[in-house]
Amino acid sequence: MKYQKIGDIVLVKKPLSEEEIREIVKKTKCKTVALKTSQIVGEFRRPYIKILYGKETETIHKEHGCLFKLDVSKIMWSQGNIKERERMARISNENEIVVDMFAGIGYFSIPLAKYSNPKTVYAIEKNPIAYHYLCENIKLNKLKNIIPILSDNRNVNLRNIADRIIMGYIHKTHKFLPKAFEILKDKGVIHYHETVAEKVMYERPIERLKYYAKIYNYKLVDYKIFKIKKYAPGVWHVVVDAKFCAC
Ligand code: SAM
Repeated sequence: MKYQKIGDIVLVKKPLSEEEIREIVKKTKCKTVALKTSQIVGEFRRPYIKILYGKETETIHKEHGCLFKLDVSKIMWSQGNIKERERMARISNENEIVVDMFAGIGYFSIPLAKYSNPKTVYAIEKNPIAYHYLCENIKLNKLKNIIPILSDNRNVNLRNIADRIIMGYIHKTHKFLPKAFEILKDKGVIHYHETVAEKVMYERPIERLKYYAKIYNYKLVDYKIFKIKKYAPGVWHVVVDAKFCAC
């Protein structure tokens, strides 16, 4: 039986019989079992679930030594991004200022702030519910180097400040590149996420990065593309570590 365990809550993709529910509760010692009823959708990447057992939907999930409080009926948790959360944890260093443009509940900001210990992480989140958990998670993990900002990232006044920018969003992410170049220092790295057809996986994200870099007087000096997960048949979620300098 395939299931996803987030803290002490179990999410399943297919309806279960009474017996299967009893079995899963016994095996996982979970407090709630819920069925995912649709894809994660919209700007806020909202999940939809139906409770099959129990009633509580808020939990604390532990991963790579970090605590993430969330309500699984309102906030997504992508198991497929686990390696990327781990990779981001040690990507920065004590000299950097980092801007997480799509912070959510702190998926990348929390492990990065904890293990890379940069000067500051500006964690921007537009959804007030996700922002509430972001603030809770900063407290839970006792982090002093994250500044949470409740806003659409396009309205935030941060200019020429970041050594590193995380763009962990897959819905027309390129539309946010003008803002990213406004936030980036003269030299810096953008972690640019995109969902892209396999056929053009190694070309399209780079073309988009070069296109916007040129408009904002930056040059792409180095890059590496990583596959994160298969998103749909023939479509990959990829991230490009793209290094730029102003020209
Ligand atoms: N990368 C994450 C992971 O590892 O699971 C998943 C993506 S995260 C859910 C994306 C977040 O960006 C959501 O919380 C959404 O509300 C937020 N968001 C979307 N548009 C935004 C915007 N314009 N400004 C700030 N936050 C935004």
